[in-house]
Amino acid sequence: MKRAWRRFSSSSSSSVRVAVFSQRAYMMKTQVEPMLAEFPGSRGLPVRLSRETAGLAEGCNAVCAFVNDDLSESTVERLADVGIGCIAMRCAGYDRVDLEAANRCGVIVTRVPAYSPYAVAEHSIALCLTLNRQLIKASERVRGGNYTLSGLVGFDMFGKTVGLIGTGKIGRCAASIYRGMGCKVIAFDSRPSKEAMAMGVEYVDFVDLLKESQIISLHCPLNEETKHLVNKNTIKLMRDNVVLINVSRGGLINTLDVIDALDSRKIGALGIDVYEYEANTFFEDLSVETDENPGASLPRGWDKTLGSLATRPNVVVTPHVAFLTAEALSSIAQTTILNLKEFARGGPYTNQVLLPKAA
Ligand code: NAD
Repeated sequence: MKRAWRRFSSSSSSSVRVAVFSQRAYMMKTQVEPMLAEFPGSRGLPVRLSRETAGLAEGCNAVCAFVNDDLSESTVERLADVGIGCIAMRCAGYDRVDLEAANRCGVIVTRVPAYSPYAVAEHSIALCLTLNRQLIKASERVRGGNYTLSGLVGFDMFGKTVGLIGTGKIGRCAASIYRGMGCKVIAFDSRPSKEAMAMGVEYVDFVDLLKESQIISLHCPLNEETKHLVNKNTIKLMRDNVVLINVSRGGLINTLDVIDALDSRKIGALGIDVYEYEANTFFEDLSVETDENPGASLPRGWDKTLGSLATRPNVVVTPHVAFLTAEALSSIAQTTILNLKEFARGGPYTNQVLLPKAA
């Protein structure tokens, strides 16, 4: 295997050529065009990054990747083989990047730690209110000429107890909105925030949060410690009819355990923007008819578990869109360009992702 890492003597952006993977129409103006203008010779690629597609980056020395791109060991090695020295993630999470492999191959990994925490927090509240006030059911009724009210009773947000797991940038924005609605906000985080406490957030231990909250919203990263944080044992501790919101990462929830809890009404409503197995489906239009799927009544690669969730009246699933505001897209592009310019200079890096032991 070739060692990819090369230091640039030039400090000019022109020394960097980026392959922008998972390019989609929504990001052309705000992200792809600014990147191509800043780094001439770069290219946008509409395919997902994986071991099979990594070779398309040949001729470039950096890749720009998104949340569901596959950056496992074999992809990283393949990228290093074709001369890639930097993986610039255009998102905050990096749970799909094999950092050991990147470190071994001398590939720098950067990310965008903050862009618009408001966008993500606001979406989490939108999910909660949509479920509580049954906006989808009510709107579908009106569309069909049914103007009855039975089955649409919600609850006042005022005075309810909201439990936030994680009070970083996004959790704190969510706390501020829930406090504005008159909710009591309790939180669990190993690093309590003074800013959150000043807003009136009360820190409790994990078990108390599960027992006391009427709404639980997840705002922590996915890692070995937090994987399946919501599972059949932790669900048992929750209040009956709890509303569960997850806009962080799908793997925080054991999906099958949550489906059982929805069946038994232990969980009253579920709002998710992220799904444990989303890499196989999200960001693709699988509904279109293709040669392999002619006249199909089911989308390609139909995911029964996702289908079982998405068709429930007390579940709302959105396809990882919480970040998707114009402000967030521009901010992500600006930081990614800064990260790539630092790569052009050979560092130092503002937003490098280091191996935990080296961090
Ligand atoms: P952040 O780093 O500012 O905050 C994360 C917080 O979680 C920190 O305060 C940390 O101490 C806490 N934490 C870590 N482990 C914990 C644990 N075991 N229990 C409780 N708290 C724990 O991150 P952020 O910007 O607030 O983002 C949070 C997550 O949101 C990201 O990791 C990412 O996965 C997700 N996210 C999703 C979208 C989307 O579009 N759906 C967009 C951006 C970020």
